[in-house]
Amino acid sequence: MTDGVRLIVFGRQGAGKGTQCVRLAERYGVPHISTGDMLRAAAAEGTEFGLRAKEFMDAGQLLPDDIMLGVIEERLGRPDAVGGWLLDGFPRTPGQADGLTELLGDKGADLAVDLDVSEEVVVGRISGRRVCASCGTIYSVAAPPADGWKCDKCGGDVVQRADDTEESVRKRLAAYNEQTAPLLAWFAERDMLVTVDGVGDPDEISRRIAAAVDPRLG
Ligand code: AMP
Repeated sequence: MTDGVRLIVFGRQGAGKGTQCVRLAERYGVPHISTGDMLRAAAAEGTEFGLRAKEFMDAGQLLPDDIMLGVIEERLGRPDAVGGWLLDGFPRTPGQADGLTELLGDKGADLAVDLDVSEEVVVGRISGRRVCASCGTIYSVAAPPADGWKCDKCGGDVVQRADDTEESVRKRLAAYNEQTAPLLAWFAERDMLVTVDGVGDPDEISRRIAAAVDPRLG
């Protein structure tokens, strides 16, 4: 299979991007490639690279572009990504966007989706966000697991992400506004951007995304 969809999903931290990306990747049968998840997995494994990445993540800082381009080049080169992919959290800077364009050539993305949620709303969401340390399932203070802070799916500990502190969140949102938000213009100029309102019930948002994306991929 060589003609699967190639999607890039943008959205501020806390926009619900992780949840919606899992569903979208399933819908289109492509791997969900989240650079944040990859870095967190490396950090949990305790590799030298992972521990270095953790320092950046805990400080709310982006890793250098050359490192991230190496990570994504290796990931997109794996067999499961030959038939398409969904990128979540990459590209994040103009340098990464240029590097990706160079890497993909004319096999670039089909479409970019911007899951739009205001800064005010995401700050509230992130401070209440909790995540299973074992399998990554996302919960919130308002919608906790059924059994104390143990994951409904795997029984793992449900905790606050180390980089979900207020100071780190503030830094990450500033980085998004300065470095990532301008990338949206690049896709909009090429008529490759769909913007979806990311406020509301997650199922409703999934329907909104599908309604916006499906016709563009036909
Ligand atoms: P995320 O889960 O996408 O919010 O990513 C968590 C953290 O991982 C970010 O705050 C960065 O420290 C790091 N990270 C993830 N993706 C990238 C990227 N494309 N470029 C640089 N750093 C990244």
